[in-house]
Amino acid sequence: MQEKYNPFKIAQEQLDQVAGKLELDPITHQLLRNPMHEISAALPVKMDDGSTKIFQAFRVQYNMARGPGKGGIRWHPHETIDTVRALAAWMTWKTSVMDIPLGGAKGGVVCNPKEMSSGEKERLARAYIRAFSGSLGITKDIPAPDVYTTPQIMAWMMDEYETIAGQCHPGVITGKPIPLGGSRGRSDATARGGIYVTREAGRAFDITLIGSPMAVMGFGNAGQNAALLGEELLGLKVVAVSDSKGGVYNSKGLDAKQLVEYKNSNGTLKGFPNAEEITNEELLELEVTVLFPAALENAITEDNASRIGCKICCELANGPTTPKADEVLNARGVVVLPDFLANAGGVTVSYFEQVQNANNFYWDLQEVHSRLNTRMTAAFQSVFDVCANNEVSLRQGAYMLAVARVAEACKLRGWV
Ligand code: NAD
Repeated sequence: MQEKYNPFKIAQEQLDQVAGKLELDPITHQLLRNPMHEISAALPVKMDDGSTKIFQAFRVQYNMARGPGKGGIRWHPHETIDTVRALAAWMTWKTSVMDIPLGGAKGGVVCNPKEMSSGEKERLARAYIRAFSGSLGITKDIPAPDVYTTPQIMAWMMDEYETIAGQCHPGVITGKPIPLGGSRGRSDATARGGIYVTREAGRAFDITLIGSPMAVMGFGNAGQNAALLGEELLGLKVVAVSDSKGGVYNSKGLDAKQLVEYKNSNGTLKGFPNAEEITNEELLELEVTVLFPAALENAITEDNASRIGCKICCELANGPTTPKADEVLNARGVVVLPDFLANAGGVTVSYFEQVQNANNFYWDLQEVHSRLNTRMTAAFQSVFDVCANNEVSLRQGAYMLAVARVAEACKLRGWV
């Protein structure tokens, strides 16, 4: 990883940019620049061929002043402690901007799940929980899925935690399958939240969405649901989507449901009928009304920011835009919906899942959607108001709101 694209350095730089505007005292600033607690472990896992492999794993609890830690577990071959630190920082700002009574945390394992059997994944999931269970729990820190982790992996993790505890604790992990206490509406919540804030941005900035082109980079959980819901709820026309191997494009429009079916049955978008192949770089530069970066960090950098072709960039991925690129997009008038607001639908429904688990009483889908809509709309409006009052970008407005709340909680606790 190039040091200038180190996600943790980027997260710290983003905080530094608003510290002055918020007149944060130096000690609070120092506290909020770094994780308060981090743990790493080497996980020995038996592989199907009889060998044992050691996997490096992390859990970072960035700040828990506002409540127990909350954050997904990412399995990725290029996972690093600094990526996990950055993601944990962004979780802290995310729960805060949504005014959810939780802190921020994140986990990661350096592994390539694409090359692992189901049995190997299950043993890795259980090993992770055995290593970190002492620091996890409904009053401590609650994990969830992220890149390349799934509801099935959450189910194994919950089972391992309950086996160690000798008790049922469904709320120890969110993003579970529905029969094990998962919330209805969790699977598309991240994209749905992004779609709600895109709708609000369209209204606030007077940008027509219905019938307008959209493109999606990254075609997993967040990206697939963005395509489906962009079409269904906003009337956007999907013109391009991509995954790690490249994408497909048709200016007249592509059918979101067919794209999802094709990708899920073929494992790739290559060969999708009636579409041209397109690279990820080309997709980012298409003239579209809404672009959804929904893959990984650092997709939009100073190298391509001047050519990004959208009016609204709804950051479903965490950290897709570097600070330098952000400046260029702002100067060009692109409306950037910052990641920790745009993708907060996932953690919001995870929070709903915890609430339902705690009450042992489950909501119907309509209730989940309606509560999510209310919260996302309110969060957008609060951020928009901060921006209007301070003449700052949406990202800086979201940071100002979120950081001020965490700083206040630290102060009330007597930490600073
Ligand atoms: P996923 O594992 O379901 O999908 C990831 C997708 O990105 C895959 O289609 C993969 O092929 C693609 N991809 C990987 N590298 C790529 C590249 N270089 N170029 C283009 N595509 C690439 O993951 P997900 O859950 O959809 O997460 C995607 C992003 O959204 C991540 O940044 C994640 O942190 C963020 N996010 C996810 C959730 C959630 O609830 N799933 C919540 C908040 C944020």
